[in-house]
Amino acid sequence: MINAKYPGLPDATEIDINALKAKYRVERDKRMRGDGQNQYVERVDEVALTYEADPYTPDTPREPLDEDIDVAVLGGGWSGIMAGVQLRKRGFTNFRNIDHAGDFGGVWYWNRYPGLQCDNDAYCYLPMLEEMGFMPSKKFTDGREIREYAQSICRRFELYQNALFHTIVQSVRWDESIKRWRISTQQGDDIRARFVILANGLLNIPKLPGIPGIDKYQGKMFHTARFDYDYTGGSEEEPVLDQLADKRVALVGTGATAIQLTPFLGRYAKQFYLLQRTPSCVDSRRNTETDPEWVKTLQPGWQAERRANFHRGANESLLPGEMDLIRDIWTEVNCNLSAELEEQDWPELSMEEFMARYEEMDFRVMERLRHRVDEIVDDPATAQLLKPWYRYQCKRPTSNDEYYQTFNRPNVKLIDVSETQGVERLTESGFIAGGVEYEVDCIMFASGYEVTSDLERRWGIPVFEGRDGVSIYDHWRGGYKTLHGMMTSGFPNLFTCGLYQGSLNSTFTYNFEAQVEHMVHIMQAVLDRGAVAAEVTEEAQDAYVSHLRATEVDRTEWIRDCTPSYFNNEGKPDVDENGNEKYRFYLGELYGPGWDAFMQLLQDWRDAGDLAGLSLD
Ligand code: NDP
Repeated sequence: MINAKYPGLPDATEIDINALKAKYRVERDKRMRGDGQNQYVERVDEVALTYEADPYTPDTPREPLDEDIDVAVLGGGWSGIMAGVQLRKRGFTNFRNIDHAGDFGGVWYWNRYPGLQCDNDAYCYLPMLEEMGFMPSKKFTDGREIREYAQSICRRFELYQNALFHTIVQSVRWDESIKRWRISTQQGDDIRARFVILANGLLNIPKLPGIPGIDKYQGKMFHTARFDYDYTGGSEEEPVLDQLADKRVALVGTGATAIQLTPFLGRYAKQFYLLQRTPSCVDSRRNTETDPEWVKTLQPGWQAERRANFHRGANESLLPGEMDLIRDIWTEVNCNLSAELEEQDWPELSMEEFMARYEEMDFRVMERLRHRVDEIVDDPATAQLLKPWYRYQCKRPTSNDEYYQTFNRPNVKLIDVSETQGVERLTESGFIAGGVEYEVDCIMFASGYEVTSDLERRWGIPVFEGRDGVSIYDHWRGGYKTLHGMMTSGFPNLFTCGLYQGSLNSTFTYNFEAQVEHMVHIMQAVLDRGAVAAEVTEEAQDAYVSHLRATEVDRTEWIRDCTPSYFNNEGKPDVDENGNEKYRFYLGELYGPGWDAFMQLLQDWRDAGDLAGLSLD
């Protein structure tokens, strides 16, 4: 047997898919609200949830810079680090990473809350393991280890010597007279960069729900991206939150962050309330320490193979006879399916038949996860509220061995806020739910990041102007227009990381690696030709966008039925000129033929060597 089914998986005959679909719809509709993305507020000055201040690294004053450089990499998280590595490898030396934070790491720099771990297989997630000769200490490794590893890469590739930390970009403008980007910062810098790589990440701006009364609450508040150990006691190294022993604490949110943090708040707070709008699905963690004997068996190229296996297991389908190397919540549907197909001697299935089998497995896996809640949580009413009623991957699946157990503690109460589509109201001394006021000393927000808000809000760069002073925010107002999701016409020498119009690999860091490799190839090719600027022609851009849209897989049916969240733009579809609704996954438009085909598309484009679609200056 290549793959074994997960224990506890119900048989297909034990579930009623139509009844489940109806239940899913009821639960979705209960949470739908008219204001979609506008339910989140950009900033609530009154509550002093300041994200600018860096609690971890002292700010060292420096003189403003007035200089010309080859490349400005805006960001020092994984995409910025990978860009820096690629630039070094290609011989660039005159470049800088610029970041708001006091060091490299991006989201792994800012996030230090208790329990922080990567929810993905670290042997895939951490880039360049073979090249760096590094092995994570366990499958789901700690946030601190990730940050330290990221920083070790920066040391190895000498990214520190030019990095500008505690530097917030205020404007990025194309200056045609010098054919460079002019970057101004809050430090008073005037940096003229030949090329700009925008590597500002997806999770850079913490998101805050606009709960009525949020400006009235007088107690302590903070977002988990700025976890305040001075208030809670303990530290990242020793998360013993002893100062919460006499505190009543509320946590807003039940996403991946809250799942990791909840066990600590339940353990240390005098009284802990978890305010839940939509439950996550939480599998057992099965986190294992890295086995040195296993490491010895790995052959060169193992990480690329593992990533490919993960991508098929999580996002596509395992090949007949392929073993699921990852075997966790991300790959379970495909792993189970593969096990059953093997039992049946790999029957010939049409795409429709395969998708029907896949859908059925999705319902069965979710049922298994609902059973898990009943097995662990003592109070049946609480267990009922904790059950996820939606299809697998409508919300990011999680795993944790202490989350459900926390609700068996006498000092912990789950507060369901789904009927009011979110926390109803804050008062001066607490929150209101179901007509009752709960007084609390502290409210923590695990409410996520600005993933789907307007670009100007989530990029946090007030002015971003290309040729003729056109704002990129206006340029993309009606939808992204790019070549390969990385360059856009009117914005020469600008490269955007992220997943705007490309493909998506299940390993996020791999997306960035592949993108920056392509970008730096173009920069080098432009300079090798004696040119100073490259810009996508409108024709090439239009042709790519048309091709992308022609190939795009319409996921409307699946996404529409998901409960609202940032995954489906809070339940709001795009509507075309004919009034047709289209639901997209939050990461933008994705290239239909998939990751490998997209990689081939880029490879073929590079191999052709003619920089097709770019006009050089
Ligand atoms: P999420 O955006 O995933 O979750 C935010 C939570 O806040 C949701 O439960 C949401 O409910 C809730 N919420 C929002 N508004 C309200 C409201 N008005 N009232 C009550 N609840 C509200 O944020 P996370 O910080 O959990 O995760 C952020 C990102 O980081 C995700 O992509 C996540 O997957 C990732 N992450 C990754 C980790 C890793 O291991 N690699 C670890 C932790 C996070 P609802 O669902 O109903 O909208």
